[in-house]
This record gives sequence, structure tokens and C-alpha cells, in this order.
Amino acid sequence: MSLPEPRDITIIGGGPTGLFAAFYAGMRGASARIVDSMPELGGQLAALYPEKYIYDVGGLPQVTGRELADRCIEQGLQFGADVRLEEQVQQLIREPDGGFTLTTDHGRYATRAIVIAAGKGAFAPRALECSGYGRLLGRGVTYFVKDPTLYEGKRVLIVGGGDSAVDWALNLKDRTRRLVLIHRREGFRAHAGSMRQLEEAVAAGKMELVTYHEVREIHGDDAVTAVTIYDNRTDADTRVEVDVVLALIGFKPDLGPLVDWGLELERHSVKVDSHMQTNIPGVFAAGDIASYDGKLELIATGFAEACIAVNYAVHHIDPKARVNPGHSTNLKVFKDREDAGSAS
Ligand SMILES: Cc1cc2nc3c(=O)[nH]c(=O)nc-3n(C[C@H](O)[C@H](O)[C@H](O)COP(=O)(O)OP(=O)(O)OC[C@H]3O[C@@H](n4cnc5c(N)ncnc54)[C@H](O)[C@@H]3O)c2cc1C
Repeated sequence: MSLPEPRDITIIGGGPTGLFAAFYAGMRGASARIVDSMPELGGQLAALYPEKYIYDVGGLPQVTGRELADRCIEQGLQFGADVRLEEQVQQLIREPDGGFTLTTDHGRYATRAIVIAAGKGAFAPRALECSGYGRLLGRGVTYFVKDPTLYEGKRVLIVGGGDSAVDWALNLKDRTRRLVLIHRREGFRAHAGSMRQLEEAVAAGKMELVTYHEVREIHGDDAVTAVTIYDNRTDADTRVEVDVVLALIGFKPDLGPLVDWGLELERHSVKVDSHMQTNIPGVFAAGDIASYDGKLELIATGFAEACIAVNYAVHHIDPKARVNPGHSTNLKVFKDREDAGSAS
């Protein structure tokens, strides 16, 4: 089996920090690869709060998590970083030539330097604690919508009370034959505007909303055929015939195997020096995962740390390369692009 092409810098985590690191690597002429355990890029912005407004990112007075994730993806991938999604990084192997091999649950990647931008750890979906969930996962039970067209004409039960559950209910309601949204409480943690749309959809008979209910059992042999939900106030059961169970009850982060790599850790983060260098030469860290005196876990600090980590990683790979990147306004890579634009 041939291995994927080695990269100068492999970035663990495709959140805002990892994406900015990929941009910076490209700007410095270094090849990059991003590995993320999630099915999509964007880190916490996309997974935890896509509809919330962020007000403290420089130059963007008000931006939703989704919009900022999209802008970071556009900027981060412009130099052709290789992206590996739904792969959790497992092992760090130090090679005799000073480089590394990273293993994931699907592959092996050779790299000259590493930027760990793993946030709070790999996001794993929260599982429904009910009979049938594990058995039917991937066979009608899912925790992520990749392609809304797959729900055309289906009977769908969505479980959850946050932005993700409400947004997908609104998005899928006109495609599905039947759509039921259940939540274990009365109150939702979703955007007020989305809640208004949800109430309108329920009033118009486009979907059903059932509060104070949880899933007791998912039925089916090879595919989902029905669920039993129960009223958590009375314990009374109701059977609902469905083809799909969409469990949108959030993700929980887990640092996982990173803790066994011999990195100097401080609680749930990795200690770095002022170059964002960890105690392993060639392994840098940035963003929420990086820890030092005075650390602030913010998107803005993650951007700055990504920039420092990548510039020192470039210098680590080639000691003749300057650490200071210069100003992007003066860089040839962008000048050439401007010239090409004005010529066309
Ligand atoms: C509800 C909420 C609101 C927030 N509001 C704001 C705000 O207004 N302003 C602000 O500045 N900050 C805010 N934050 C914090 C901000 O989202 C984080 O500081 C930021 O996302 C950190 O970015 P990151 O790229 O370092 O990590 P993350 O966004 O956590 O991304 C890390 C990525 O690494 C992946 N990963 C981890 N381990 C592995 C592994 N072993 N293998 C493969 N992939 C892995 C994860 O799946 C994840 O996608 C908020 C956070 C939350 C939860």
C-alpha cells in the first residue's frame, strides 16, 4: 500500500486555529495536511455553535460560527492543503531523520513538523443511551447530516434541543414524509429566530414537536423501522414509525491518545514556549490546546498562535528559512495573483 505524499507540516485539528495554520503554511511555501476526526472542518465553530454570533474576532464586528468557519475554510485551503476528515490521530512516531509519522484510525502520514491545533480534543458524538443505538448506527441512526437529499420522502425523528437539532428540523421539514423533533425538556438552547420558525412550522403542520420525551428503544434488524419514546414525567411509552433517527445531542471532546505521546501536559492542554514549541522538537501547538502563562482561550489568540507556530515550524524544517514571514502585502505569492487578476 503506497503512503500519501509526505507533507512539511501536518496540522492536527481543522478548527479556526488549524485552518489558519494551513493558510500560513501555504503562504510560507510549506505543504500542509489537516487531519480532523470530525466529518467537516470548522472545529467548535461548526460543531458546537454554528448559529451563535461571535463579536470578538478582529475585523468582523458580528459573524456566526458557521460564517466564520466558512471564511476560515476558504482562507485555509487556498494553497491546496490536503484534508483528511473522520480520522482520529492516534500515534506519533519519531523517525531517525528528525521527521515524524502520524498514524490515524485510517492511515499513516509522514511529516517534517507538526502543529497540534486539537482544541479540547477530538470531538466524538454523544450517543443516545438507549437500546438499538449502537446496533443501528449507520443503518438509519446517525448523528450528522451529510446530504439532506438522502432524507427525501423519509420518516425522520430528530433528537436534541440545541441549534443543530432545530436547524436541521427546519432544513429537512419540507423534504421528509414525517418529521418529529423530540427534546427532553421544555426549553431549547437554540437561536430565538430559529425557534420562531420552528413554532410556525409546527403550527403549519409541517412537523411535530414533542417535549419532555426521550428515546427508550430503536427498533429494526438491518434498518430502523420505529422508535419507542417515553414521557420522562410519566414514563408512558409511545411508538413512532420512522426510517431515520438523527441524534443531534452534541459532541464531547476527548484528548485521547495525545496524552501518551510524551508531551508535557498541563491539565487538558499541551505546554508550549514562546515559539509555540512543545517539549518535542518539531512538534508545535496552538489554539485552545496550547498552554502557557497568561493564556486566553479565544479564536483571536488561536490565530496569532497558529502564525507563530507555523513560522517556527518552517524555520525548524529549514533553519535557513527566516522566522519572520514579512508582510502579506509584499509577498510574491500574492503579488503574482494580483498581477494575474489585473492581466485578465
Ligand atoms: C458555545 C461557545 C461559544 C464560544 N464563543 C466564542 C466567542 O464568542 N469568541 C471566541 O473568541 N471564542 C469563543 N469560543 C471558543 C472558541 O470556539 C475556541 O477558542 C476555538 O474554537 C478554538 O479553536 P481551535 O482551532 O484551537 O480548536 P477547536 O475549534 O476545538 O478545533 C479543534 C479540532 O481538532 C480536532 N481534533 C482534536 N483532536 C484530534 C485528533 N486526535 N485527531 C483528529 N482531530 C482532532 C477536533 O475534532 C476539532 O475539530 C466559544 C466556544 C463555545 C463552546
